[in-house]
Amino acid sequence: MNNIEPTLGQDVPAPLGGAVPLRALREAAGRLLLPLWRGDLKFRRTGWQFALLVAAAAAAVVYGAWQQDVIHDFSAMAGARVAYVFYMVPALDLGTQDRPLAELLVWIAIGRALFDILCAWLDMVFHKRITGRPFDWESMINVALVNGLFSCAAFFAVLNQPVRRFLAHYDALVAQVPTLVDLNGSVALAAAVLIGDFCFYWSHRLCHETRCFWNLGHINHHRNRNLTQMTCAIEPGWLPLQAAGGAALLLLPVLSKLFTADIRDAGAALAVLMVIDALVDPSHSIFMYWVESKSRVLRALRHVFVTVGVHYMHHSCEVTGPHGTGANFGARLSIWDRLFGTYVEPTGQLPRTGLFDPHADLCVNPLRYVVLPYLRMGLELRRNRVSDWPFILFGSTDYEPPNPVPLSR
Ligand SMILES: [Zn+2]
Ligand SMILES: [Zn+2]
Repeated sequence: MNNIEPTLGQDVPAPLGGAVPLRALREAAGRLLLPLWRGDLKFRRTGWQFALLVAAAAAAVVYGAWQQDVIHDFSAMAGARVAYVFYMVPALDLGTQDRPLAELLVWIAIGRALFDILCAWLDMVFHKRITGRPFDWESMINVALVNGLFSCAAFFAVLNQPVRRFLAHYDALVAQVPTLVDLNGSVALAAAVLIGDFCFYWSHRLCHETRCFWNLGHINHHRNRNLTQMTCAIEPGWLPLQAAGGAALLLLPVLSKLFTADIRDAGAALAVLMVIDALVDPSHSIFMYWVESKSRVLRALRHVFVTVGVHYMHHSCEVTGPHGTGANFGARLSIWDRLFGTYVEPTGQLPRTGLFDPHADLCVNPLRYVVLPYLRMGLELRRNRVSDWPFILFGSTDYEPPNPVPLSR
């Protein structure tokens, strides 16, 4: 922890004439910011601090549930017209379905929402029994704060005019892509699932292999050592750094446009895929990891699907993967990892999760969590020659610049 303080411009000489006010300003900023920067969230388990911990944890649970698409699914119960059948597949208009099937899909959506909440709750209850460590309440509160900050930033990024212009240009470009193949029914559904997960696989892998995507985005999702449904952070949502989404969002419309993805007539396959999606959706649940380790049926799903056990190997800081920068990049299907040689079978032992660097800062502090990777990369750019900048920004995540920055990861 002692190597993670920002330098706050200590190595910048003050300009002549303005030295005293600038130094005074810098010292005042330092006095204000350093305690905020250095401290970790920690609550005593007695008195008012305990009451504050309970209130903050309750707020984090409510916010976490809302973030896991639960609101979408419950809104289906209240008469919404769409259902989310499978990850990365466009929403299905329920008005196009027979009434019994539409009602069944709504009930599955409600079941998926309740299952998500149940898994998050069981993680808290059984964490100590499964891992031997108490549930990390401070981490959950910290992650809720970080996720809130990232969500706000994403909201304002979309309001930003250059971003809107870029998206409008991109939509116009996609509109020109010709449709080559007409598919419908369950074949169209299978194509939509395959295309969606293929795009996710490559964007996710890119995020692990490219310095800026990793350090300025996806590192946040991997920082926590006590992984559960409620303690994994999302990534910054602004383009082009939205870690496991940005590249996919750009590639997906192009590939989808090549086919007509009319999934309306897929019938029972819609319900079957939706149940499978619900089953593997709580992919960070320590409780579901434990259940899978006891269930031969759930383990058999690994042949095709990214089960919780498979995704835990992705979060492992012990398994570097066949290419050195990680393994198991798929979101729902394990076939891409098997095909492109990045699949690692779960070992049966609960892996240690977190960053590969054993001295990485856990950042149980929203300020450090959000700013540290940006500060680190900013200092790397400042302390190295311009000719090194392409490698600092777009090099492999293994790359270390000639003048490294002694900040923790
Ligand atoms: Zn990842
Ligand atoms: Zn994950």
